[in-house]
Amino acid sequence: MERERAQVSSVLVIEDEPQIRRFIRTALEAEGCVVTEAGTAARGIMEAGTRKPNLLILDLGLPDRDGVEVVRKVRTWSSVPILILSARLDESDKVVALDAGADDYLTKPFGLAELLARIRALLRRARPNQDEASRVDFGAITVDFAQRRVTRSGAVVHLTPIEYHLLTLLIASAGKVLTHRQLLREVWGPSHVDDTHYLRVYMTGLRRKLENNPALPRHIRTESGVGYRLVTEACPQVIDRVGPLSNSLVFMPPSVDL
Ligand code: CA
Repeated sequence: MERERAQVSSVLVIEDEPQIRRFIRTALEAEGCVVTEAGTAARGIMEAGTRKPNLLILDLGLPDRDGVEVVRKVRTWSSVPILILSARLDESDKVVALDAGADDYLTKPFGLAELLARIRALLRRARPNQDEASRVDFGAITVDFAQRRVTRSGAVVHLTPIEYHLLTLLIASAGKVLTHRQLLREVWGPSHVDDTHYLRVYMTGLRRKLENNPALPRHIRTESGVGYRLVTEACPQVIDRVGPLSNSLVFMPPSVDL
């Protein structure tokens, strides 16, 4: 987080398990952040209002109130990036929280590298470059927004208007998950938020045109049961899931998180 270090001052962690709070605090303080902890939803909402943190890390399973309610409450006055922590039992709540305005999520147990990568992506988007890029490159793909032109290894790729729209949404949220409902609402409108089969069809088309191996997509990733995520760089999450956790600590919750 070299670039952010000078500017990131405050992160609020709303989580009822002290061990997880301690894990996150240690990791973020090592990155130069100031960390505030809250063990309940009520306390968290109060701290979010008074401290105005740059980032909020929010557990969904809180003792006094559902984390989703914290998202709704905070979103009435703030656009602070919100990273959700969810246990496997919160899976459906996770999507509700994202649709309510949370920005991304991590499923417990999570690794340190993954936590930091998510935070970096959220903070980067919260502080966009003044000279907004009119061109984006990832892998062999170049997208020229001014000309609405997509090339792959220099060859023009012909996208349908819907494919192009989906791709621009993914690029605008690169690194971050977009839920099915968010994508469907943006592209097809509010009456189609449940038509996830549309997405399957068009994402398959996009992958066929953009990915070297559409069956094992490197960039347009499926977030199972949630949505899609565009990965434009090497993602620690992938390393974590396929191999030993070489350079990352993993926080294992001592018990099921309810
Ligand atoms: Ca909890």
